[in-house]
Amino acid sequence: MKNISLLGATGSIGTQTLDIIRNNPEQFKLKAFSAGRNLDLTRKIISEFQPEFVSVQKKEDYEILKAELAGNINISYGEDGLTETAVYAHSDTVVNAVLGSVGLYPTLQAIKERKTIAIANKETLVTAGHLVMQAAKENQVALLPVDSEHSAIFQCLQGENEKNIESLILTASGGSFRDKTRAELTNVTVKEALNHPNWSMGAKITIDSATMMNKGLEVIEAHWLFNIPFDKIKVVQHRESIIHSMVEFHDSSIKAQLGTPDMRVPIQYALTYPDRLELPSAEKLNLAQIGKLHFKEMDFDRFYCLKLAYEAGSAGGTMPTVLNAANEAAVTAFLDGKITFLQIDELIENSLERHNVMKHPDLETIKAVDKETREYVHSLI
Ligand code: NDP
Ligand code: MG
Repeated sequence: MKNISLLGATGSIGTQTLDIIRNNPEQFKLKAFSAGRNLDLTRKIISEFQPEFVSVQKKEDYEILKAELAGNINISYGEDGLTETAVYAHSDTVVNAVLGSVGLYPTLQAIKERKTIAIANKETLVTAGHLVMQAAKENQVALLPVDSEHSAIFQCLQGENEKNIESLILTASGGSFRDKTRAELTNVTVKEALNHPNWSMGAKITIDSATMMNKGLEVIEAHWLFNIPFDKIKVVQHRESIIHSMVEFHDSSIKAQLGTPDMRVPIQYALTYPDRLELPSAEKLNLAQIGKLHFKEMDFDRFYCLKLAYEAGSAGGTMPTVLNAANEAAVTAFLDGKITFLQIDELIENSLERHNVMKHPDLETIKAVDKETREYVHSLI
């Protein structure tokens, strides 16, 4: 039995994680969870899963829940509450499905408490991958990827010796605007950007997929998770999202992991690794019916954010922190209707250009750079 703390339970990954817990009551028990502002769903999760601890984002929501639940469950709020969820004493496994670099501190604290971490929250690895990986190594904690590309690579690497890796090949669907030219992106709307062809996901990552920043963040995520230099991480456009990613070995052999686009598969694998469980509701892949798979070279001028991410990742130090914070602020502004789609890239590039990189930043430096970058982006809007 695994006792789980779930950060971001009310989100896209969060609710799919709950699905897996619901369907396997003998394997998993939800002990603690955090939510953002979705109180209705928070109430439903409490009533269905009867956890011991819950945290919400805002104090006012905490007051409401506290009055309603009258001492039957421990409640907290804010960033402290997120950390309390992550380190909850009766949990052994943390699923980090919260959105954004707010997930960094809770992850580091959970690692110190030697929890197993299933990580979906890629912003945490992008903003401070060196701190997370170092803490995981020091505490001998397993960091299991949930992101489908990284789960695919992780699955391909089972039984392999890492020294034989030639390259990692991440696949990219191309997002909502893959068939548009850059000029055609000038007037695209939020609604159009939120319409992903293959995956149903939270709003921020759907915009990240449309700008291709999602793949950029994933390149940096892969660098940290698998300890591979940036020049050995490739991206290929693959519109069907059937091959979730690949590993190329020195002898020219390539291993791939395939499946229908369903995030419950990588979430469940992170929870059952090294074992597997049935997932009866998952659609089976019918290759004969699909017939053809397509692959295409990435165009770095068209998908400018991917280029920015490679540059920031290779520069290292605080550059990925700036990339991530500028992206989070810019995407929020786009979703709020304050900037156009193409201004997302511009704001990120501006933020990177003015930043003097600091090597080997500690947690305080990361937090300061994150905050300062968001303020800079807001000042430009
Ligand atoms: P969602 O927006 O659907 O969910 C985010 C979750 O985090 C919600 O529970 C939300 O609460 C909560 N939340 C947001 N901001 C805060 C905050 N400041 N403090 C506390 N809680 C907060 O996102 P996704 O599930 O799509 O993505 C989550 C993470 O997983 C991201 O890092 C994303 O990149 C990654 N990921 C997602 C994939 C997907 O298929 N969705 C695939 C691979 C990776 P509420 O809704 O209650 O306000
Ligand atoms: Mg992904």
